[in-house]
Amino acid sequence: MSTHLPTMTKMAHKTILVVEDERSICELIAINLQHAGFIPLRAHDASVAERMIAEVLPDVILLDWMLPTKSGLVFAKELRGNPRTRDIPIIMITARSEESDTVTGLEAGADDYVTKPFSPRELVARVRAVLRRRAPQLTDEAVAIGPLKLDPVRHRVYAVSDKKEHPLELGPTEFRLLHFLMTHPERVHSRAQILDKVWGDHVFVEERTVDVHIKRLRASLSRGNLADLVQTVRGTGYRLTAEALHPARNRSDTRAEVVRI
Ligand code: CA
Repeated sequence: MSTHLPTMTKMAHKTILVVEDERSICELIAINLQHAGFIPLRAHDASVAERMIAEVLPDVILLDWMLPTKSGLVFAKELRGNPRTRDIPIIMITARSEESDTVTGLEAGADDYVTKPFSPRELVARVRAVLRRRAPQLTDEAVAIGPLKLDPVRHRVYAVSDKKEHPLELGPTEFRLLHFLMTHPERVHSRAQILDKVWGDHVFVEERTVDVHIKRLRASLSRGNLADLVQTVRGTGYRLTAEALHPARNRSDTRAEVVRI
C-alpha cells in the first residue's frame, strides 16, 4: 500500500498540468499554483504533456493556445476525444482576446479561457472554479444518496435512519472511492477509470486493487445495510446506484433521489 502514498498526496493537493512553451510564464504560473496549495506539473509542448498524462491524470490542465508543433487548440480537441482524458477540466491560456477566438477555444473543449496578460490570482480562482464545476469529488461539498451521506470536511460517512446519523467507519482509500462514486452515481465505471480518478494512476496500480477496496467499502456500508448501493456490473466495472433502494422505480425516478446537499 505504501507505493500508493505519493499519488494519494498528489490527489489531496490536486495536480495542475501547465502546458506553456514560454518558460518564464510557465514558471510564473507554476509558482503561483504552488503558493495556492496545488502541485504544478510543467510541460513545454503537447508531446511532453501527453507523456505526463499517460502516466498520471492531472486534475486540471492549463493549456497555452500557441504551442510549437501542436497547437493548444488541436491538443484540447484530442484530450476531449479521448475517453480517458475527456473529463479533465481545461483552461486555455492565450494572447488572443477576440470573441471569436474565445468561442473557438470553448468549442474545442476548453472549460474556461484566460487572456494574457492575466493576474495569477485570477488564474488560481479560475482553477478552483473549474475544479468545483467539473470534479465535484474534489470539493468540500457534502453529498447524499438516499440514506447515505458523506461529509468531506469532517471526513465522515453516515447512514441516516430515523433522522439520526449513524457514523460508518471507512479507511482513507474507501472514503475517496466512495466520494468518487457518490459524486458520479448511476454510471458504470471501469476499474481503469476508477484507478485514474481515485488513485490518479491506471498504469502502475493493478486493477484488482479496485476489487479489494470495493469489497472493504461494501463491508463498511453493510453496517448501515447499504452495501447494495455499490453494484458490480459484470465484465465492466462498478456503479453506485440509488436503484437498489427503490427497485420498483424506473431509472429517471431514481436519478431524482440523488440529492446534493
Ligand atoms: Ca506560447
